[in-house]
Amino acid sequence: MDILRLAIVGYGKIARDQHHPAIANDPRHRLTAVASRNASVPEVANFESLEALLEQGPEIDAVALCTPAGVRTQQARLAMAHGKHVMLEKPPGATLAEIETLREEAERHGVTLFASWHSRHAHGVAGAKRWLVERQIRGVEIEWKEDVRVWHPGQAWIWQPGGMGVFDPGINALSIATEILPRPFHLVDAQLQVPGNCQTPIAASLDFIDGDDVPIHAEFDFRQQGTPPIWEIHVETDAGRLTLEAGGRRLLIDGELQEEGPDAEYAGLYARFAELIAEGRSDVDVSPFRHVADSLMLGYRHTVEDFVE
Ligand code: NAP
Repeated sequence: MDILRLAIVGYGKIARDQHHPAIANDPRHRLTAVASRNASVPEVANFESLEALLEQGPEIDAVALCTPAGVRTQQARLAMAHGKHVMLEKPPGATLAEIETLREEAERHGVTLFASWHSRHAHGVAGAKRWLVERQIRGVEIEWKEDVRVWHPGQAWIWQPGGMGVFDPGINALSIATEILPRPFHLVDAQLQVPGNCQTPIAASLDFIDGDDVPIHAEFDFRQQGTPPIWEIHVETDAGRLTLEAGGRRLLIDGELQEEGPDAEYAGLYARFAELIAEGRSDVDVSPFRHVADSLMLGYRHTVEDFVE
């Protein structure tokens, strides 16, 4: 087995909480270097930028880009031009079109580009998809609510253009919905709540329909103070009600638990990355991101009270 020598770029919350432990627990991967302006990690080569890492660093095979979306595309292009495979954190970019540039460059340089959607690797998602494929779907309710101060402490970028506000977690729900629902759906109405001192929404209420006019409603909210997050999807069908709870870790049918697993989303991501590299393929699905772009394009913006960290 060839070990993949990896570098993490942007050692912030998600790199620390998820990427680093997932790499450390996977014998196919070795964390070889980190490129981050304000953070360093013991026992690996540390650099202040990806440029410095690529010029002076130890040999690496791949990078995991854990920086905000607004800076990731340039980093991905640089890494791919140096022949490195690239894993993008979600969302894959700040615009839809730049992802096409990345897709084309991955092909040109003969490297793997993996636009990752960690929530699709939540324990119950595969089972939900299998169960729904044979069902008539009558309606879908998505509730994705969390406390922004707990889950995104001090992250000023989330309120700036390209930061996506509440769509940063909301896109996780959309990544599951686009995976488990058998038919495509599209937005018909979006109501966005935007703090007066921010550029991006703190809450969003979205209505979609599919080709049979089945309604899909989503409520995303960052103002879930003090209580645990609610990350749930409910699907009414001709054979009962499917529920995914805990971000997809728990699968229930008519309230009865079918499957529950540990939080192993990032283990799944790194397994998939290794598989794609071994097969010489890329995996770039923009469907969750397209719904966010549509929401920002079609959405009615309501100004609400200023956000104070
Ligand atoms: P974060 O804590 O702000 O970490 C991102 C890191 O990137 C920062 O610590 C910073 O490290 C570096 N960075 C920030 N701005 C930069 C810039 N302009 N140029 C170069 N480097 C920059 O954010 P995060 O929560 O880890 O999120 C990062 C990405 O992961 C986002 O796309 C987010 O959607 C995704 N994600 C987050 C979560 C979560 O729960 N937080 C979950 C899943 C996915 P240095 O200052 O050291 O360079």
